[in-house]
Amino acid sequence: MATLRVASKPAVAPMKVAQISKPGGDFEIVEREIPEPGPGHVRIKVRACGVCHSDVLTKEGAWPGIEYPRIPGHEVAGVIDALGDGVFGWKKGQRVGVGWHGGQDNTCRECRRGDFGHCQNLKVAGISYDGGYQEYMLAPVEALAAIPDGLNDVEAAPLLCAGITTYNALRHSGALPGDLVAVQGIGGLGHLGVQFAQKFGYKVAAIGRGSENASLAKKLGATLYIDSQATDAAQELQKLGGAQVILATAPSSKAMSALIDGLSPNGKLMVIGASSDPIEVTPLQLILKTRTIQGWASGTAADSEDTLHFAELSGVRPMTETYPLERAGEAYARMLSGKAQFRVVLTM
Ligand SMILES: [Zn+2]
Ligand SMILES: [Zn+2]
Repeated sequence: MATLRVASKPAVAPMKVAQISKPGGDFEIVEREIPEPGPGHVRIKVRACGVCHSDVLTKEGAWPGIEYPRIPGHEVAGVIDALGDGVFGWKKGQRVGVGWHGGQDNTCRECRRGDFGHCQNLKVAGISYDGGYQEYMLAPVEALAAIPDGLNDVEAAPLLCAGITTYNALRHSGALPGDLVAVQGIGGLGHLGVQFAQKFGYKVAAIGRGSENASLAKKLGATLYIDSQATDAAQELQKLGGAQVILATAPSSKAMSALIDGLSPNGKLMVIGASSDPIEVTPLQLILKTRTIQGWASGTAADSEDTLHFAELSGVRPMTETYPLERAGEAYARMLSGKAQFRVVLTM
């Protein structure tokens, strides 16, 4: 017996997204269909997404090959809402985050060596595909970090870029418990860097411009505060024996250059504040004290999980200002102003 087939369109619910439709364009709040996850992908119901300075790459079209319209956002916290084919080890209802490392090809030379962070075809959430400034987002499984219960979504989101960058750079810096570690810049990165450094057992010198951040830096765990406007910060570090590591978070190459003489023998300038002008250093500054200058990006999803677990365990938390998704443009402007204390987070 023939069955009657009723042609029915699947019910498509719309969702709200904040997109950029051309380089330099403004944020547009529009409705889109909720997307379905393909093989190896999950759909995340986004609950919070941090606004990072690197979102400027999406907003202004400064990343080679970026396609529009594009939804920025690589500090994503939410809940898995649907699984694509071939997804194992993750389940619906699980809390997950996505950071800067948005996926790898698993086939290039670096991936074959297990160095996924340097994949030649690295995908970045919010640049290579639509990121977290939306109610539902698709992500490949290799980009997922499980969020522990002790962190809420607004706390977790900034830890997926600002947090992992400072945590991962410090834990690979070679500094040992008790060492003098300086954190240059008390901002979105630096306020987390100071907390991680203190929890790692370092003697922490926070370096900022002006005196206004002194009490905050101490509250975050700094042993001492150095005002780089009022004093020569390199000399102040040398009075303490020199810093084993200086974590340079403020994107000022001039300020970084001025700190190199504050490093101890075998000391390291760890650069995470991204600016495009050159750091100035003489070979003698490096040679005579066997000093190193190193850069650090962020890390993989597994590094993100380490960051989240350490933060949960130790009490490291970002300071945040929240905005609803509909006010993404305002939130972005607030981030750009440099006046936010300290991470701007969108909530959905
Ligand atoms: Zn970022
Ligand atoms: Zn690769």
